[in-house]
Amino acid sequence: MDKCVLHTCCGPCASHCCYVLADAGKKPVLFYSNSNISPFEEFVRRWENVKKLAGILGVEAVCDHWDHELWLEAVKGHETDPEGGERCRLCFAFNLKRAYEFASARGLEFTTSLTVSPYKNSKTLFEVGEAFPNFLKFDFKKKDGYKHSVELSKEYGLYRQNYCGCEFSLSQREKE
Ligand code: SF4
Repeated sequence: MDKCVLHTCCGPCASHCCYVLADAGKKPVLFYSNSNISPFEEFVRRWENVKKLAGILGVEAVCDHWDHELWLEAVKGHETDPEGGERCRLCFAFNLKRAYEFASARGLEFTTSLTVSPYKNSKTLFEVGEAFPNFLKFDFKKKDGYKHSVELSKEYGLYRQNYCGCEFSLSQREKE
């Protein structure tokens, strides 16, 4: 099987992606690069579940460092944008650039688990991803991908968060 890098937003989303990639003859390296996640305890909690998934599936998992201050700089001026707006596009670009750099250093192609979520526009993700060489366009939400990720995360006992990741999405969720 050819290896590729899966930018991994969380264990539940990555679970379904690993199945799709295996069907495509690819063995993923889970690259957890999510400086958007706040607070830090949440970042750690999601990483623990990525490691758990990697152990279950027998794949490698790598954690990028948490650079939340730099991420805040990247989305400056867009703090109050609604979820799905320009802040999210900038957030995707921040994380996918790091995934691309990690994959390049290993001479691998890369893709992202972010397309599993029904809250994330795959077209936008593809536009952002294709700005980098060696990006693989997998639309993981196809064929009930999200539903399958929910089923797998139950089966594997993975923690599922109830907000996207940044403090702005957390406060929006708390208001709702
Ligand atoms: S809502 Fe999610 S995708 Fe959008 S900026 Fe926050 S963490 Fe990133």
